Amino acid sequence: MIDPHVHLRDWNQAAKETLRHGLGVAYRAGLDGVFEMPNTDPPLTSRDAILRRIDAADVAAKSLGIRIFHGLYAGLTNVPRQIEEAVRAWKELFPRVVGLKLFAGQSTGNMGVGDVDMQALVYRTLAALGYTGVLAVHCEKGALMKTEAWDPAQPASHARARPPAAEVASVDDQMRLAAAASFRGILHVCHISTPWAVDLVRNTHGAALPGLRVTCGLTPHHALLDAALMEEEDGILLKVNPPLRPKPLPALMLRRLRGGAIDWIETDHAPHTRRDKTDGFASGIPGLPFYPRFVRMLREAGMEEETLVVLTHGAICRQFGVEIARSGRSPEEGLAREYEFDPFTRAAAP
Ligand SMILES: [Zn+2]
Repeated sequence: MIDPHVHLRDWNQAAKETLRHGLGVAYRAGLDGVFEMPNTDPPLTSRDAILRRIDAADVAAKSLGIRIFHGLYAGLTNVPRQIEEAVRAWKELFPRVVGLKLFAGQSTGNMGVGDVDMQALVYRTLAALGYTGVLAVHCEKGALMKTEAWDPAQPASHARARPPAAEVASVDDQMRLAAAASFRGILHVCHISTPWAVDLVRNTHGAALPGLRVTCGLTPHHALLDAALMEEEDGILLKVNPPLRPKPLPALMLRRLRGGAIDWIETDHAPHTRRDKTDGFASGIPGLPFYPRFVRMLREAGMEEETLVVLTHGAICRQFGVEIARSGRSPEEGLAREYEFDPFTRAAAP
């Protein structure tokens, strides 16, 4: 199994998670590889920061005495010279720099590129540089968010503040902009959370946007948890971006996963301290410990072994162009206790 979407924090956010702890949990969960997102503090937007990160990950794995593939995404800003540096880092350091990440929205840190004209510039720059790798994009359109709907006293309002339309419109934007720029990489829609966005992604394989390659990944939380859980005690702990969706959307996402419309599973493992969640309303939940259980649930619900291998390993290796050996190690139990809370205590079997 590979998890192509994790946030391992460390550095100035070591209270939330560290490379050593996160890689250790991933290994004990039975994973053969993780791909790390670049919105660390400081972020992975320069060659220098990327090299320091690779070193730090190697030191962490060595200190644990484990072998696990660690790849990372170079983060993109709207500055052409920085985009060029990121693409050069990918060319030089692939597969450790496994792809690029664009936050298409008012997201985390200094990496959000919310303006559509700026997003167009990113695609044009990548096309001009001949980038052919994976571009992972967080798709939520700021202009369609209803920030005034967010009320921390009612955590479930988070789902209304970041409605499905914001995701669908952003996926539509990214696909059009990529096609218009003759982008030759693979556009990957991260943590897709609405069936309409999945249907949009799959329609490109027709005649609408010829030549454009698009993939999407589903998190266990968008498949098994719904927005109403945020009305219960400690609901604030379930705040994630994109938000948990109301019923019946999670079930529809599972149906699309079963039907082959989703390319792979990714956890978006994003730990915070409990205090950052309850006082700071931070978005993100620890997902790594639940990954093997999610796979087991899908197996018990009748998913073929062959399909599971594709969704957790094969499709990821093929699209990124990496070779990672499949060890088939058994996961340890009780890994959720490694974090201050377990968001999946109320996850019902599919
Ligand atoms: Zn993420």
